[in-house]
Amino acid sequence: MGRYDTVLIRYGELSTKGKNRKDFIRKLYQNIQRILADFPNLAYRRTHDRIYIRLTDEDPDIIRERLQKVFGISSFSFTEKVPSDLEEIKKTCLAIAQESGKKTFKIITRRHDKTFPLNSDGINRAVAGEILRNTDLKVDVHEPELPIQIEVQQNDTYITSEKIPGAGGYPAGINGKVLLMLSGGIDSPVAAYELIKRGLEVEAVHFASPPYTSENARQKVMDLASMVSIYQGEMKVHIINFTDLQLEIYKTAGDPYAITLMRRMMFRIAQEVAQRNNCLAIGTGESIGQVASQTLESIACINSVVSIPVIRPLVCMDKVEIIDLAKKIGTYETSIQPFEDCCTIFDPKNPVTKPTIKRAEEYEARFDYESMIADCLENEIISTAGPETEAEEFL
Ligand code: ATP
Ligand code: MG
Repeated sequence: MGRYDTVLIRYGELSTKGKNRKDFIRKLYQNIQRILADFPNLAYRRTHDRIYIRLTDEDPDIIRERLQKVFGISSFSFTEKVPSDLEEIKKTCLAIAQESGKKTFKIITRRHDKTFPLNSDGINRAVAGEILRNTDLKVDVHEPELPIQIEVQQNDTYITSEKIPGAGGYPAGINGKVLLMLSGGIDSPVAAYELIKRGLEVEAVHFASPPYTSENARQKVMDLASMVSIYQGEMKVHIINFTDLQLEIYKTAGDPYAITLMRRMMFRIAQEVAQRNNCLAIGTGESIGQVASQTLESIACINSVVSIPVIRPLVCMDKVEIIDLAKKIGTYETSIQPFEDCCTIFDPKNPVTKPTIKRAEEYEARFDYESMIADCLENEIISTAGPETEAEEFL
């Protein structure tokens, strides 16, 4: 490969210092190597504020697409690596300018190696002079068509004229683990993406009600988990058989409170699964007002059965915004496949929109839900969804 054979990765101005910064960089480094694991010939190197990847014959478009999925990267560039020598730097920048077809340029130098004979301003002037003398390009310091960036390190200098935005956020997994309630719908996979973006590791719990929900519905959930696992690596999925508990709720509470009770049971089980698996919080794809069970009154009534934090990344988003994100991360088409999930099967006609904790507790006093929850937990099935894994493996 000739030009642009080294990727320079920036992780921005971190507010975190000391050990946190070390953890951030170490995790980011691991996550980058994981997402590029199928390219064994890449050579990695890191300094205190940059990661470099040397390509051999890999397809840069695939590398670019993968790196854009790694949280914690603020931006990256495909660069040309030259020896840290002013004549080499000038020659390369001139070639970039000549080949660009652009009319205006600006040189932006960062000198990491303070022993280099010129300071960054001196390098800017020397390189700009070379381009002005040999081309028709003009300098525009405010809105250059061609911003050429030069990073001078001790032995090598990296030159680029593009800056690709990274995904931002924190490296997946540095901020602890959360248990996400993952349905087959549109919202919860998007919630997974948002949670991972904040540096959390997501483990999932899914409530299935066979035979009312089909094997296809379960497969769909595993497919969704696989899709979002590209952002963090393998994802553990706890599948809870919810049928008996759900039937009992409908028998006991009847129509209006069924959803409220069902969700209170889901949260109780989720809290237990979370605590057994070192997840410090529960995540959901709820959004205020979207359905009867997501009015503020419903959320309050349902949330009251758990004591660990519940994180709802989509809580203030509009459905259209959520759908746009689902399309962006590629889960939308799978989410809209028409397989019944447990909520749509037992869809009550008149769900209460302002449930009270008192009424919910009255219904719950009528049956021994605790032992039913214990049964659910005892019969959980644990699967692993991974980005590289074939869907068939989960059948
Ligand atoms: P989604 O599109 O995520 O299914 P929704 O708009 O259909 O959301 P609900 O079905 O009321 O809304 O679910 C709200 C949240 O509760 C979901 O985002 C998810 O976190 C959780 N949830 C719902 N059903 C299940 C299920 N069968 N298993 C696990 N979690 C669920
Ligand atoms: Mg749903």
